[in-house]
Amino acid sequence: MSSPATPRRIAIAIDGPASSGKGTMARLLAQELGYSYVDTGALYRVVGLRALGAGLDLGDGESVGALARALRLHFGWSERGLRVFEGEDDLSDAIRNERVGRAASDVAVLPAVRAALLGLQRALGAAGGVVVDGRDIGTVVLPDAALKVYLDADPAERARRRATELRAKGQDADEQAIFDELVARDAQDAGRAHAPLCQAADAVRVDSTGRTPAAVLAELVALARARM
Ligand code: C5P
Repeated sequence: MSSPATPRRIAIAIDGPASSGKGTMARLLAQELGYSYVDTGALYRVVGLRALGAGLDLGDGESVGALARALRLHFGWSERGLRVFEGEDDLSDAIRNERVGRAASDVAVLPAVRAALLGLQRALGAAGGVVVDGRDIGTVVLPDAALKVYLDADPAERARRRATELRAKGQDADEQAIFDELVARDAQDAGRAHAPLCQAADAVRVDSTGRTPAAVLAELVALARARM
């Protein structure tokens, strides 16, 4: 049994809809706790990107599933933070756009794709000392995670944050189009038959609407420490 002086290195699952701040919060929480961070959405995005590149029908479970099983996915770190690789290729920047986000959501519907990505996600979470963000982490990937958070925010605020983020990068941002895209993607993620986006029965719901990142982070750190 661990004593209070040697806190347990737990697994923390953070699920929630698109642009709810999961990535930012998971990264900051991991940094605060000295944990590693796993962005499972990046894996679905790589499958989406590669499937688009190969000209596959994104609804075809057989071909996209075979592609997903053949990908050599892994994470790495650089001075720019967490990077996702397929083989030698660092795809971290190529996957960050709305087209790939939508393709990721399309392929994420396919059970063969979900099955292909499950082992890697579980292996990354198994040792503890990790913050994993996604849609089905608390429900399917790490059902025994010591802390499960469902991070939500009002859709209009999520669209506004996303637009601000894009503008900060010097990109155009049509807030209404972003809003429509978010709502459509959430509906597809929550409505699918396999591992849909939903709050685990034992997850803590945290709503970040109208709150600063620092305030949300403080709440998450307190929740995590209470479970160590
Ligand atoms: O989190 P992110 O927006 O990068 O995820 C992209 C898409 O990947 C989501 O819209 C969802 O369809 C899918 N996804 C998933 N399960 C996860 C993580 C992401 O289905 N654990």
